[in-house]
Amino acid sequence: MTGRLAIVGLGPGAPELVTPQAAEALAAASDLVGYAPYLARVPEHAGQQRHPSDNRQELARARHALDLAASGRNVAIVTSGDPGIFAMASATFEAVETGAPEWRRIEVTVVPGISAMLAAAARVGAPLGHDFCVLSLSDNLKPWETVLARLEAAAAADFVIVLYNAASTARPWQLGEAFRAIARHRAGATPVVFAHAVSQADERIEIAPLAEADPSHADMRTLIIVGSSATRLVSRGTDAPFVYTPRHAELVAP
Ligand code: SAH
Repeated sequence: MTGRLAIVGLGPGAPELVTPQAAEALAAASDLVGYAPYLARVPEHAGQQRHPSDNRQELARARHALDLAASGRNVAIVTSGDPGIFAMASATFEAVETGAPEWRRIEVTVVPGISAMLAAAARVGAPLGHDFCVLSLSDNLKPWETVLARLEAAAAADFVIVLYNAASTARPWQLGEAFRAIARHRAGATPVVFAHAVSQADERIEIAPLAEADPSHADMRTLIIVGSSATRLVSRGTDAPFVYTPRHAELVAP
């Protein structure tokens, strides 16, 4: 008997940012699999089984979910934001590719979610209004040299740069190095947005010029947006400024 597997994005935190499609998939599931704090965001439904796990071991978690689905269960794997962005969807397809042949017959659905960068951008204005580039700063799954090479290339090409996984207690120095790499290509006045826990009770948004951006203000629930040379602030007296990137761009030298 083969069941189903939905890989569901919960959005950045606030219940009103969970899409109706995601809410439906969560309500329909017989089993919920995921990192415990994400599972805690999902409303309880009678008869549903929960399988909390820690934040690592994505592949093991995906295999567990696939096993449950292969035995006929209707499984939902939950992730924060969008499941396809630095999250469980890729891990699940990797598990399918390398796993039991019968897993390929499981009906798998990816249910998109509002990614942290979209919620963060909306909070401050429109910093992603023109070309942008998205990187995870985590060097758990790739060499730090690769992160730096990609950062340098994105900064040289004048993309707005979005950084996920900017910092954690285990990775305290990477963001400072990233800011220094970007600053080799960007003016010190370039706006940097620190968006902490967007849409959650302890949300905190900080906007600082690149030259003064303090990496210690980021933690594992912070998303960073570094402006391009065109990104601008619209000041509004005592209110926080709008941050936006115009719809047009200047010639970037090759
Ligand atoms: N799939 C998720 C990203 C997972 S990677 C998404 O699409 O949003 C985890 C990183 O996402 C965190 O380290 C942080 O950089 C960012 N993040 C997730 N939720 C966030 C939130 N509510 N506010 C700010 N950043 C968040």
